[in-house]
Amino acid sequence: MSDIIQLLPDAIANQIAAGEVVQRPASALKEMLENAIDAGASKVQVIVKEAGKQLIQVIDNGRGMSATDARMSFERHATSKIRTSADLFAIRTFGFRGEALASIAAVAQVELKTRQADQELGTLIQIEGSEVKKQEPIATSPGTSVAMKNLFFNVPARRNFLKSNPVEMRHIVEEFQRVALSYSEIGFVLMQNDLEVFNLQPGKLSQRIVGLFGKNYQSNLVPCEELTPHLNVKGYIGKPECAKKTRGEQYFFVNNRYIKSNYLHHAVSTAFEGLIQNDQHPFYVLFLEIDPSHIDINVHPTKTEIKFEDERTVYAVIRSAVKQALGAHHVVPALDFSIDVNFTENWSKDPEKKAAVDREYSYKTFNTPEFKRSSASGWERLFEGNQPVSETPGDRQADSDDEQILTFKSKANAEADLPVLSRSPEEEATGTTFQVELNYIVAQMSTGLLIVDQQSAHERILYERYLRQLKLAQGPSQQCLFPPVVELSPGDFELVSGLMPELHSLGFMISEFGNNTVLVQGVPADVQLKNEKDLFEGLIEQFKNFKNELSLDKRENLARSLARKSSLKRGQKLNPQEMETLVGQLFACQNPNYGLSGNKTFVKLDLTSIHSFFGK
Ligand code: ADP
Ligand code: MG
Repeated sequence: MSDIIQLLPDAIANQIAAGEVVQRPASALKEMLENAIDAGASKVQVIVKEAGKQLIQVIDNGRGMSATDARMSFERHATSKIRTSADLFAIRTFGFRGEALASIAAVAQVELKTRQADQELGTLIQIEGSEVKKQEPIATSPGTSVAMKNLFFNVPARRNFLKSNPVEMRHIVEEFQRVALSYSEIGFVLMQNDLEVFNLQPGKLSQRIVGLFGKNYQSNLVPCEELTPHLNVKGYIGKPECAKKTRGEQYFFVNNRYIKSNYLHHAVSTAFEGLIQNDQHPFYVLFLEIDPSHIDINVHPTKTEIKFEDERTVYAVIRSAVKQALGAHHVVPALDFSIDVNFTENWSKDPEKKAAVDREYSYKTFNTPEFKRSSASGWERLFEGNQPVSETPGDRQADSDDEQILTFKSKANAEADLPVLSRSPEEEATGTTFQVELNYIVAQMSTGLLIVDQQSAHERILYERYLRQLKLAQGPSQQCLFPPVVELSPGDFELVSGLMPELHSLGFMISEFGNNTVLVQGVPADVQLKNEKDLFEGLIEQFKNFKNELSLDKRENLARSLARKSSLKRGQKLNPQEMETLVGQLFACQNPNYGLSGNKTFVKLDLTSIHSFFGK
């Protein structure tokens, strides 16, 4: 029998190899863009027709190629970027396998025009299915233009596998965005069927983000930076309010290469926990810089996975970077990472976590009859009351704040709204929870002691409540018996006029009384009615202070100001039930750990520490 093994003809071998590099128009675009960047271009123009099926052309003003190099560039494994295998491990440029142009030329009709700046003439090469059709000198501008036409013209089966134009175009835009994000110092233009989709001037990363994703990001970006000896993180995160329901605008770059990583995504998501709803995704563009010897970028050019030598550290650094960014910009108060994060994990949204937290922190109460009657058995009861009315306890899962507030029949929300303080001698008598210096609430837990700063805790509770009311525009109101007339400066009057809808949402009933004067007919139902005039004037003052200090948005500022103004203060005596309600409400908050100025609302002293005081 004769031998049957034969070498594949070059053309077929090339086509097969090409299939790995060029899966769709967008993957060819990626290679072409990376080549332009590697060539040192400062301006790159992309022209797309028919979602890249008809044409993708990339024009750059980079260093160009000599005639010989131009011809060589289409050979497989022809590359100017790597000389020894040692280089493989120190790669910082994009392309390095010398396969892209060869692959593209194997499955499309390619026209290359290139000229080096110091040469008078450039080179034109036309190549189709790996066959050179034309090579000649040509007058052209310095730099390189690669036009890929009729992708898969010679592989009909693959051409048929391409998706609809909108789908392929989406891939192209995504690829373009990734590259444009990682090189904000380079100008990029994207034209689709003769229409300009993007025209991005060179600039800062923040400007690039706005250029790509829209003006509403202008005021919603928070810089994020963390420098450690082994890993640097830099970039931007979006404020919680610009989180979206759809995933997509999340970018990690490692040494400027776009990567996907669910693990690292998780690190960012947990940092946002409690600030955005469970089904929302934060915006971020984060650049990680790490010594290439500590990572294993999958050397396959189309893959976006990556392996880190020490994944856990990378996770921790990213999470802490994001948390600090959120804290430093008053998106949430400044943070301290020594705290036990598990404790704060948004229990109300995750039944499993909640159960675990409840178990651990259910606090032991004395079995006094009074205590049993007045407040059942501590937190457990408070938590029980927190189930949505419409659902069975087993599958409780709050979908959004809005629903939570509409459907929760919570003891914490409904009853005993602080600080309407009423005390009976019986209630005074119970002894588990007590106040120190009329300032801190000390409560016993199965695992130790909990110490709560009453004022900070109450501010946090009210702040979250007012925010929800502002969102739902339905804060309950109580009428003032003797509506005060408040005279304002013209500036404050302007300010108040601009805040009318929000003030209404909070429960204020205010009408203009002419001549910079307003009549306060009602105030939010849950504030203590001492002096409505003071309350209102104080609120406006506080609002102005915060406005100067923090540049918060209107609603957030109002919620903060009113919380600060109407909260329970230090030095106020509380009865056990009030204390307990306060503690229960605090832990029903989305973000119970911190008060409005970034201070802690509570600390816990666990048994191990207590034991250690005594050398046990
Ligand atoms: P790689 O980028 O992996 O080296 P490619 O097939 O993408 O392989 O490109 C082959 C070579 O062609 C590159 O190493 C580079 O020298 C040259 N080249 C490709 N595109 C350009 C360009 N736009 N400008 C200058 N040189 C280019
Ligand atoms: Mg390349």
